[in-house]
Amino acid sequence: MSEITTRDTVILGSGCSGLTAAIYTGRANLKPLVLEGHEPGGQLSITTLVENFPGWPEGIQGPELIENIKKQAVKFGAELRMGHVHAVDLTKHPFELHVGKEVIHTRTLIIASGASARWLNLPSEQALIGHGVSSCATCDGFFFSGKEIAVIGGGDSAMEEALFLTRFATKVTLINRSENFRASKIMLERAMAHPQIEFLSNTVVEEVLGVDEKDVKGLRIKNRASGEESILPVSAMFLGIGHEPNARAFTGMLDLDEDGYIKTTNNVLTTKDGVIIPGVFACGDIQDRRYRQAITAAGSGCMAALEVEKYLEEHGR
Ligand code: NDP
Repeated sequence: MSEITTRDTVILGSGCSGLTAAIYTGRANLKPLVLEGHEPGGQLSITTLVENFPGWPEGIQGPELIENIKKQAVKFGAELRMGHVHAVDLTKHPFELHVGKEVIHTRTLIIASGASARWLNLPSEQALIGHGVSSCATCDGFFFSGKEIAVIGGGDSAMEEALFLTRFATKVTLINRSENFRASKIMLERAMAHPQIEFLSNTVVEEVLGVDEKDVKGLRIKNRASGEESILPVSAMFLGIGHEPNARAFTGMLDLDEDGYIKTTNNVLTTKDGVIIPGVFACGDIQDRRYRQAITAAGSGCMAALEVEKYLEEHGR
């Protein structure tokens, strides 16, 4: 097992929050190491046009935005490396991070490993991500003005997405795999009362049509009770089946909520049994299930970086 010297700070994740933290800690001359994680660039790297990031009045493609932020981080001395942490020891100081066979020691840690949208994992769905298949209504809904679209899921996320998408779509079909809905009564009632939303229960998507055309042309769906298959002609499919926070390595080390998100106080301070863990900060979607926007992720990345600076200053670095 090889070891490297102790770092001032290591950032887990290379999405908007992690890279913003890298810009700030880089400019503070802390030479941050960014471990890029499973999805380099995070969720922005699979988004198309981003129109709500301040400073880009014409919008900017998600991958281009994240590439720019990355360049900015590297310019200030951030080191980016492929790899993800599979185990951590936060009881030791410096903290110990296990990355493959390597052990990395660091005085501070910024956890920005995000949350990944759940997908159906159909090959046709995966092929059409960014071409009519999306997991973010706020990001991509606008592109389907005047079109018919489908939303998958039966929880609050799906209801919220369906209601939001009625601003653009002429019709939204909400497809729930179960007979019953997991959504709260109020959200369900609101969606059911909406004249532009239709409901299909007990229904699963078998295939997204349009792979050859690189554009969603419809869905092949199946009623689970009758076994009957049909084609739903829609121009887009939005997934609203939940997110998975990428926090497994921190189970038992930090306080997580019932769905596995890292609990924070003051936005970015982490705790264990309710007590703050000095030097360990979390930012972005791994601690935010409420806003989940690029700009809020960037904002909390900045906060985490400022906390790192403060911590190191107070500890004589
Ligand atoms: P939930 O876990 O509540 O619901 C997930 C939904 O997706 C269920 O209907 C589930 O179906 C379905 N689903 C899961 N996997 C698949 C799959 N592979 N194929 C098809 N369907 C699938 O997640 P949400 O993201 O909706 O909500 C998470 C939490 O966030 C909840 O506590 C919710 O209340 C909260 N929230 C609150 C909001 C608000 O108040 N405005 C907005 C958004 C979320 P099944 O039931 O069959 O398992």
